[in-house]
Amino acid sequence: MAWYRKLHWQIIIGLVLGVVFGITAAASGWSKFTSDWISPFGIIFINLLKLIAVPLIIVSLVTGVASLSDLKKLSRIGGKTIAIYMATTVIALIIGLAVVNIMRPGDTVPPEMREQLEATYAEEAESQAGAALATAEERGPLQAIVDIVPENFLSAAGNNRNMLQVVFVAIFLGIGMLMIPAAQAKILYDVFEAANDLVIKLVEVIMIMAPIGVFALMADTITSIAGNSLAQIAELLAALGYYCIAVLLGLAIHMGLTYTAMLKFLTPLNLKDFARKIMPVQLVAFSTSSSGATLPVTMETAEKELGISEEISSFVLPLGATINMDGTGLYQAVAAVFIAQTLGMGLDLAAQMTIVFTAVLASIGTAAVPSAGIVMLVIILESVGVPSAGIALILGVDRILDMCRTVTNVTGDLTVASVVAASENQIAA
Ligand code: ASP
Repeated sequence: MAWYRKLHWQIIIGLVLGVVFGITAAASGWSKFTSDWISPFGIIFINLLKLIAVPLIIVSLVTGVASLSDLKKLSRIGGKTIAIYMATTVIALIIGLAVVNIMRPGDTVPPEMREQLEATYAEEAESQAGAALATAEERGPLQAIVDIVPENFLSAAGNNRNMLQVVFVAIFLGIGMLMIPAAQAKILYDVFEAANDLVIKLVEVIMIMAPIGVFALMADTITSIAGNSLAQIAELLAALGYYCIAVLLGLAIHMGLTYTAMLKFLTPLNLKDFARKIMPVQLVAFSTSSSGATLPVTMETAEKELGISEEISSFVLPLGATINMDGTGLYQAVAAVFIAQTLGMGLDLAAQMTIVFTAVLASIGTAAVPSAGIVMLVIILESVGVPSAGIALILGVDRILDMCRTVTNVTGDLTVASVVAASENQIAA
């Protein structure tokens, strides 16, 4: 097959052209044209992915659970999955802390730039911090568990922010099917299985549009960050470049060392093949900044390309999109310490341990949507006594970092899914 017919190449071309178009548009004052005529294609692409995410989780998880011979297996796989997800997030946080403490990017921001950033983003920071703290205050200690159980199925399915509720309903349905007489369950099972094939087909159809969707999303992101002035982006990057490098370096180390080691030692997969096959997932994650919207692509790739059984992927991946956010955690660790450094506050070892603890818990509660990580950062900052208004310092470059941390988040989900599948002998490699 000619190289340009391959999906990942087409998406890369879409992405590059989107960046080129976005820069040209920002430089030539075409941001209105871009938002009127280009951005809608990106929105349609994201909407299609979100549209398919909930039905996909339901049908694949119900068939996954209903095909289990015993429930012990479900709890074994569940326990293993959650333990590995937590462990990788802790490693990501430690890498983030190590990088930011060694590089000390906060020491490089000149005081006048700090004041300027604080003034520019003060309002936005205040509204983000206010909302995050208000919700945090209302939450009791068991609220995270309460949140998993929806009171109404349609509102759970209608709210793309809380995939965990949908996962809960699907597992509940699947368990129920194991408990009714086999003849009745069989009818339902066949319907769900047929629906599952249908939904996977629809994901393939949506992916035909991916290159155009990614083009539009990139063009839109660049023009909306830059407005009609590219100089603004350059100025921001100059001030916060060192901080961005610290985050990116941390993400690269985590993907290059932690994930690589896990794949090499714990799965039969070939690293190069893995990297090539998951590229479309990473590109969609990068351009949508949402692991939730990327989930249909993640699941299709796991089953069709990596050979992970449906039983594993349908359980591990939706769970991962919701609770496993290594990239987000790493970013939060770097950002929290960076803000403290810029404000001239030192964070001792105990404070940094608090960051690890709070960030692991926060990553579970973080919605898989754009900018969710910065809202949770507010809670982390509060826990170590750094003023949450400090997020004003980093808001300007948040979108770019969000795109990158989302790539790490989905790569982590796929890595863990491969490891769990390999440990259960459910990967065809
Ligand atoms: N955008 C990220 C995700 O969906 C979450 C975040 O870090 O803001 O994975």
